[in-house]
Amino acid sequence: MAKSAISTPTATTPGHRLVPARIARQTVYVECPAWCIVDHVAEPESAVEDITHASDTSSIVTTSMVSRGVVSELYAAIKSDPASTDPRLRAAHVVVDEGIGEDAHMSPELAEAFADELIGFASEVRRLARIASLANGVADSDPSMNEALRRVRGA
Ligand SMILES: [Zn+2]
Repeated sequence: MAKSAISTPTATTPGHRLVPARIARQTVYVECPAWCIVDHVAEPESAVEDITHASDTSSIVTTSMVSRGVVSELYAAIKSDPASTDPRLRAAHVVVDEGIGEDAHMSPELAEAFADELIGFASEVRRLARIASLANGVADSDPSMNEALRRVRGA
């Protein structure tokens, strides 16, 4: 088989691939991390420095039995800004936000600690729900859930 005279360059950074990006009506190729889901062609930028990478977003919402719709929401995604002057923002990090206000940029270590807090919070919400059920005369019908909570807490 004849070798092509022109070969497509490959990404040099581990965990990255070379993808097309639309910059000021021109197509360039940029290194994009494997976790990035941004279509850098469909979402054009005016300069290469404006390109940021983002993962799929996870979310959790609260609803109320006395009102319609979502009361509060929390989103989490991996992001990186390769042109940032802050090396912590250039690196892959977790961003947690409420959709409004300031984003919480978390190093992987900070995000792990936050996740531990969320697990503890979830256990506390479940404990409160059980107390409310008992107060309303509803017996705890699923003792295996207490065992599941102990396993989550690592106790
Ligand atoms: Zn990307």
